[in-house]
Amino acid sequence: MPEINTVTHYHNILEKQLHVYFENEGSITPSLDNFLHAISKTYKMFERDKMLAEHAFSVSEKEYQEVLSNVGRQNKIIKESIQQIKNAITELNPESNFTNEGSGTEIINIIDFLKTIITQEKQLETDLILAKEQAEKASQAKSEFLSVMSHEIRTPLNAIIGISDLMMYSDELSVEDKNNVSVLHISAENLLLLINDILDFSKIEEGKITLTEAPVEICQLVRKIKAANNQVALERGNKIKLMIDQDLPGFIIADELRLNQVINNLVSNAIKFTKNGSINIEVSLINQTLTSAIIHFSVEDTGIGIPKEKQEIIFDHFTQADSQITRSFGGSGLGLAIVKKLLKLYNSDIQVQSEHGKGSKFYFTIEFEKSQQADKPLNFFNNEGDIEIFSNKKVLLVEDIEFNVLLAEQLFKKWGILSDVAVNGKEAIDAVKQHEYDVILMDLRMPVMDGITATREIRKFNQVTPIIALTASASSELLDKIKHDGFTDFVLKPFAPKELNKAIGKVLHKNLNLS
Ligand code: ADP
Repeated sequence: MPEINTVTHYHNILEKQLHVYFENEGSITPSLDNFLHAISKTYKMFERDKMLAEHAFSVSEKEYQEVLSNVGRQNKIIKESIQQIKNAITELNPESNFTNEGSGTEIINIIDFLKTIITQEKQLETDLILAKEQAEKASQAKSEFLSVMSHEIRTPLNAIIGISDLMMYSDELSVEDKNNVSVLHISAENLLLLINDILDFSKIEEGKITLTEAPVEICQLVRKIKAANNQVALERGNKIKLMIDQDLPGFIIADELRLNQVINNLVSNAIKFTKNGSINIEVSLINQTLTSAIIHFSVEDTGIGIPKEKQEIIFDHFTQADSQITRSFGGSGLGLAIVKKLLKLYNSDIQVQSEHGKGSKFYFTIEFEKSQQADKPLNFFNNEGDIEIFSNKKVLLVEDIEFNVLLAEQLFKKWGILSDVAVNGKEAIDAVKQHEYDVILMDLRMPVMDGITATREIRKFNQVTPIIALTASASSELLDKIKHDGFTDFVLKPFAPKELNKAIGKVLHKNLNLS
């Protein structure tokens, strides 16, 4: 029989109980011992489970407390957020009324409100997209309309200009009729200018005009502008003065056509709004580096001036400072708007200083790149191909437009031709009477005496010298007529140098005799 001390292996509670029992009941048999071990095991397992349960409870209690405080904090944040949303909504919609403090209904109200705002925003977005599409369609329709209309208007206008030009030389019209036809001619030309302005303006507005840059001889450009405007200026009793800075670089990189358009617009405005006064065109160098030059342009006149309050609005399109005054001067009110937009392409802006009744000064500054091929301008003088040199041949140029004279004289110089100039038919007759010429170049439309009358007169005493007509129109009727009137040949204006060179060569070599 094992001793009672074997119970020490059992669970301490079972052991205590056994001590009480076995002091009276004797020792434990092996089979009883096995049984008691099994019981002791369940005691130990119960104890372990109890400890685990107690531990688990104390841990979750701690976590529970943490979660609770987190929830508390989050609740506070949510409340603050709701308050902020409420404030924002009240700001957006002062009539909103939040009475159920913190309740679920209040949150539903907020959500509803936000939903309404989102729906409205979406609608607004759809409306805007629609409006944008419509605007794009309208703008496309506008430019299509303009280009179709301008073509439709220009075609009959060109016919009016051409036919009125022909009629002015007709023998069958009285002086009064010729005057009327000339008014018709000028009006049609003005209308054509206006249409071109409108087209230009809309092209610039649509961003369709970009600068086409090439080397430009700046001095030559302003000289040509002066020459082209001189006649009209003189007719209004104005004198054009040119002041060109000696330090200007020879060639700059620019869009000659657009730069010309800007300066020409300012000069023709100056002439238009000045009578018996002067117009100063000034070009000066502000600064230059090896590669660039900052150039200042100004056109100043002693004309009617512009009142202070009108000096801003004249740059708006279709705006004139004084519709009463400008009605008598003509114009569309587009010129300065076009100037402003073209200068914007050059990162420049047009400025004005003017005193009502005393005159105006328009000016701007542009930074140009300098041309690296400074000696090779890309103007038409370079594209002459096989040009013939006529050493020491003498030409009489009968032409009243100074600009054309300037051009022709430059060409003559290059071709070795010596030249005289007559500015009307009468002067031409006198010159032919006094000198011998190899060729006469005769403009048709001139003041005092036109080219056709002069040629008829010359043919009365000289049937040998070839006379080439300079004409803007090449209709077969006109050409028949001028042949009949004693001309040898014709060249279309504005003349291409090569054509003029060819025409002179032709009449000189064939030495055509006239019938
Ligand atoms: P347009 O000359 O065809 O009317 P512009 O846009 O060129 O249009 O000029 C707008 C207006 O600015 C003119 O109608 C005129 O009132 C005023 N203006 C422009 N240049 C001058 C000038 N040199 N002197 C006085 N007024 C001028």
